[in-house]
Amino acid sequence: MTIQINIGDHTSSLQSEGYIAFPERHRETMRWARRHAFWIARNKPAANVFYRSLPDGRSLSELLADRSIWINYHPTMPHFGEAVISGTELAISERAFKIGRWTVLATLVHELAHIDGAPGGADRRAEEAVLACGMGYQSERRTGRDDPFTPYNPGISG
Ligand SMILES: [Zn+2]
Repeated sequence: MTIQINIGDHTSSLQSEGYIAFPERHRETMRWARRHAFWIARNKPAANVFYRSLPDGRSLSELLADRSIWINYHPTMPHFGEAVISGTELAISERAFKIGRWTVLATLVHELAHIDGAPGGADRRAEEAVLACGMGYQSERRTGRDDPFTPYNPGISG
């Protein structure tokens, strides 16, 4: 059982907000990101520990094994992604794909933190999931200074 990628076999409850199926050209990248998220869950113990500390308490492994969670595409939103907090729908935007596959992966793990109850607004836990997944440096978090060569951005809240 795995989290599912919408390739036209799912109608999101947020379809009218732009949560739609991935076009052919992005499917391989999206599958790579999902595979890599599984790799992180298996090989970076800090990731599961971090996700278990979130409000809904599910590990990254548990989230990735939940086939009720759908990854949708969003063609126009100005940010990288979005998710229903404690829900089952998330979206990754064209903007994330334009930057590249590591940004797609970072967006996936960020949005999964929201699915696990991480709040938006001024809260920084969703983006700290990116750090816990090994895609940033603790020094970025400590200083608040972004290293543009890592996907983690300490300046991102919500
Ligand atoms: Zn967020």
